[in-house]
Amino acid sequence: MNSTLEIEEIQNFKGKYPKQLWYLFFSEMWERFSFYGMRGMLVIFMTSQLMMNDEVANLQYGATQAFVYAFTFVGGMFADKILGYRKSLFWGGILMIVGSIVLAINPQEFFFLGISFTIVGSGFFKPNISTIVGKLYKEGDNRTDAGFSLFYAGVNLGALIGGYLCVAVAKGSLFASYIPVELRWNVAFGFASIVMIISLLTFVQTQKSLGKIGLSPLADMEPKKRKTYEIITFLGSIAIVPFIILLVSNSQYTDLFMFIIGPFSILYLLYEMRGFTLAENKKLIAAMVFILFSILFWAFFEQSGGSLSLFAANNLNDTLLGVELDPNGVNNSANSFFVILFAALVGVVWIWLNKKGFEPNTVVKFGLGFLFLAAGFYVFYYTKFFADENGVTSLDLFTFGWFIITFGELCLSPIGMSIMTKLSPQKLQAVMMGMWFLASAYGQYFAGILGANIASASENSSNLEKLTIYADGYQQLALYALICGIALIAISPLVKKLMQGVK
Ligand code: GLN
Repeated sequence: MNSTLEIEEIQNFKGKYPKQLWYLFFSEMWERFSFYGMRGMLVIFMTSQLMMNDEVANLQYGATQAFVYAFTFVGGMFADKILGYRKSLFWGGILMIVGSIVLAINPQEFFFLGISFTIVGSGFFKPNISTIVGKLYKEGDNRTDAGFSLFYAGVNLGALIGGYLCVAVAKGSLFASYIPVELRWNVAFGFASIVMIISLLTFVQTQKSLGKIGLSPLADMEPKKRKTYEIITFLGSIAIVPFIILLVSNSQYTDLFMFIIGPFSILYLLYEMRGFTLAENKKLIAAMVFILFSILFWAFFEQSGGSLSLFAANNLNDTLLGVELDPNGVNNSANSFFVILFAALVGVVWIWLNKKGFEPNTVVKFGLGFLFLAAGFYVFYYTKFFADENGVTSLDLFTFGWFIITFGELCLSPIGMSIMTKLSPQKLQAVMMGMWFLASAYGQYFAGILGANIASASENSSNLEKLTIYADGYQQLALYALICGIALIAISPLVKKLMQGVK
């Protein structure tokens, strides 16, 4: 059986989803459990265990997240050129397991070592699993968006459980009577490593049904030479860890890295563009517009793990609709909960609008994403009017803010991944997916800076003053999001032209 036939067989699936999507769903679900579990602990860990002040912790948080997503570009590049999606993903999973085990053993001592392994690991894992999802569909298959939405629900199912569980265990609001105080952080990081092992085992099983999808791009090369390239990539990705430790633990270096990687990725894209037709290049330019706006989106959205973590810890009460819950756990997981609940509904609304001839194009959907984002941040701002004299305000209202923002995310994030696979030529799929996530890196980076500004303005303030400063910060972000939304809708006809019929 030749490779085209196998891929065609997979792509000619009957029904709404290919069966492989479900396997990838679970693999990504566990990986995101691990990732968001760790992520949700970072700021609290750094302030309570490593004794960083809030401003430093915010910057540090932004840096780690920026590196995580920046490495997706590198991981995508090596997948397209050397390893193929599968080996990249597998290798990334191994590195993530190593990172989380290191953290489980002694997070206080080996924090940056563990984090750095995780950074490189998710760089190899994250973009490539998303690209494999795109590969399950033929060009122009209108079931692609629905597939990415389902996959995105998997992302968020993992994020929901991991995001709540790990931080709640670490803070002692869950299983406190079973876990000795001094081991709470170890156990919480330990959870992340166990689920990452499950993710990888799931993927090993999945591979059997992927036909030739994601195999080596160097299949025609002499095996010995190919192995050498692969081994160099594996060794290189380990050798780079000490370098990342240095970069990530030092925010000036992070700045430098961020100055370099973005322009480098654009130069690389321009270099690759020489080999494509004008029509293909126009589509790539459209992809860049989406990527640039997504930077802004994530810069606001990703306050979630940074400044909103501190806001949750300091300024929110602990009852949601009458049920006692950890506010940090809610901050980490409410958004995911709403994604799971509403991803399918949003999909149905698009199909319904399509039938009526009113479905907005992807650019307008992105614009709507910003408008929801703006409305959500206005709600965060509004919480200040419900505060008591200690500066503690309503978790209910805060959660409602996440409810609104989630619709914004659903207008942008799954659709963004899907449009990357549709606008990129075959040879550049993983790199473009990497660039999509690289935009998140910049988003995270700017999110850290924005969060640090808010945190530094509130240093030495009372809790009530803190609340006001944070809330006013969110009001500003809401305004910027509103402006972006309007701008995107205004330029939509132009971008639509560049997309040449791709939807
Ligand atoms: N929440 C999504 C995920 O984890 C998107 C993250 C992002 O691109 N910033 O996959």
